[in-house]
Amino acid sequence: MYKLSAVTKNYRKGRGMVAALRGVDLVIEDGEWLAVQGPTGHGKSTLLQILGGLDRPSSGIVEFDGRDLAQLREAEVTKVRAQEIGFVFQTFNLIPTLSALENVEAALVPLRVGAAARQQRATMALEAVGLGDRLQHVPGELSGGQQQRVAIARALVKEPKVLLADEPTGNLDEDTRDEIIALLETMWRERGLTMVLVTHDSSIARRAQRIGVMKNGRLGFRPSRQGPASRAQAARTGPAGAGTTPSPAVGLTPADVSSPDVQADPARVPDPRPSDLRPSDLPDPEDSRLEDVQDPDLSAPDLEDSDLSDFEDDDPEPADTITFD
Ligand code: ADP
Ligand code: MG
Repeated sequence: MYKLSAVTKNYRKGRGMVAALRGVDLVIEDGEWLAVQGPTGHGKSTLLQILGGLDRPSSGIVEFDGRDLAQLREAEVTKVRAQEIGFVFQTFNLIPTLSALENVEAALVPLRVGAAARQQRATMALEAVGLGDRLQHVPGELSGGQQQRVAIARALVKEPKVLLADEPTGNLDEDTRDEIIALLETMWRERGLTMVLVTHDSSIARRAQRIGVMKNGRLGFRPSRQGPASRAQAARTGPAGAGTTPSPAVGLTPADVSSPDVQADPARVPDPRPSDLRPSDLPDPEDSRLEDVQDPDLSAPDLEDSDLSDFEDDDPEPADTITFD
């Protein structure tokens, strides 16, 4: 599904540069479930944005289904995103003034699905996440877990190939967290999705087939234990089996980020907005990511987890910021 080669991402920050990704190589098989862990500020959300075509790398290749997202024109990337990639965020990113049904329908507007079909598909998507009796509720009338279910329905109503989830349970209590993960796992299994799930939570990550760890903009891997997901995978049809093989650590060699000749971030062109949905109200994934960056210390408990012990930082100096005069 994906093949990333030597992907880097540098952000401007004042006079300096932040090297958010420092040379990521990554193959994600069709139907694989990959979890990504790692400390806050080490590039997880940046990686997800790039996988989703929400942002472009500074250098490198982001092959998605044979096309390099880094090279496609913006309109083509927007189309790929609208058709084939579903996103779920920590903060749900629902439009507060729209009903659950309208929020889900909004994902079909860029695909030019007619009003009747849109409503029918959105209804079915909400029924699939257990919210068939909440179609007309606005987000403020729903619990956090229910809002995240709406967001999952919105991500899946277009029947994407890929589901990208950035800390989808970060704002939920433990019981709700388990429900949402169980739902994502069911959707992954039943729909043959390729899923990339960023999480601080090792107990969630262990359910995936493979666990990547982002550290200082580089991605390493550790094999997943044989959790429920792996067993379920055995029962799935299709070419997904290849994803169960743990990969050796890659991308851990020092990448050269010292060149001052760094590309500016190309301005993002938003998805075509449904004209009747008040564009200013539409969720901006960028906002969610930035909130996530500012998020203080969600990672702290899990960093103690033995799963991450090999990736703990012996060097207390933050190595991310490179300043150019
Ligand atoms: P994580 O998701 O692992 O917490 P991020 O990918 O959000 O990490 O961020 C990686 C690094 O890139 C951090 O140092 C963060 O401050 C920086 N960064 C992320 N987005 C931007 C941006 N839009 N502008 C400047 N710096 C950014
Ligand atoms: Mg993040």
